[in-house]
Amino acid sequence: MSAETEPTPQIPRDTGTTREVIRLDQVTKRFGDNTVLDRLNFTVDAGKHVTLIGPSGSGKTTILRLLMTLVQPDEGTITVDGEQLYPAPEKQVREVRKKIGMVFQQFNLFPNMKVLRNVTEAPVTVLGMSKDEAEARARELLELVGLADKCDAYPTHLSGGQQQRVAIARALAMRPQVLLLDEVTSALDPELVAGVLDVLRDIAHSTDITMLCVTHEMSFARDISDQVLMFDSGRVIESGSPEKLFGDPDHERTREFLSTIL
Ligand code: ADP
Repeated sequence: MSAETEPTPQIPRDTGTTREVIRLDQVTKRFGDNTVLDRLNFTVDAGKHVTLIGPSGSGKTTILRLLMTLVQPDEGTITVDGEQLYPAPEKQVREVRKKIGMVFQQFNLFPNMKVLRNVTEAPVTVLGMSKDEAEARARELLELVGLADKCDAYPTHLSGGQQQRVAIARALAMRPQVLLLDEVTSALDPELVAGVLDVLRDIAHSTDITMLCVTHEMSFARDISDQVLMFDSGRVIESGSPEKLFGDPDHERTREFLSTIL
């Protein structure tokens, strides 16, 4: 990435009627000599679903990890719902971070806790919700993901797809404004993928949650996305509606990338 390259484009937005929930300004992230994100700018408005696509190693997951505060940028600012997440004092980071939920590739459930407790644990310990309220909400969410009958099961007794649906319920239990999805079906056996994507489609279409999603499931991305961003070497090289980006991309790199996965 040379110094001559242009800043990455902003996602166009209607500032009159919308509210920005995610904003990255000139965010740079390096690991040693490797500039993984290069002066990245983008915004996501409330309730919108934005999908990040691009070759492996182009920096997509790093963006989600920055938003989860699992890594910190070297330069730039990150704002969530009008409040700065980076740079910010630790107390503010903890508060802002509560607005964000994430579902990982590897479901990361607590193996020693039954399904219901996996979903209630953070609302009780982090949000201070009463156990009764957390359980009532967890049961609703487990119903939403089709697992109302698995409250008393341990994660190891569930299929990968079921475990991932519990992880989705667990993320939603914190009532986040933003849901980050990091290749959530890539660790699943093929026959389990559709069930998880159906649950996410349902959530995308029936809630007002803002979603930022990294996926190679292009038909899913087409169904749920308001905007698709094509990454290459830590920069957004093209952004647009799924119809435009998948149907008639401007950039040769986008065409090449799509031809490898479609
Ligand atoms: P993508 O999600 O597009 O595949 P990533 O964001 O995972 O890309 O990775 C971008 C680059 O950053 C890769 O070159 C990867 O090796 C590097 N990288 C990611 N995390 C780390 C880390 N913790 N330490 C060193 N390099 C990392």
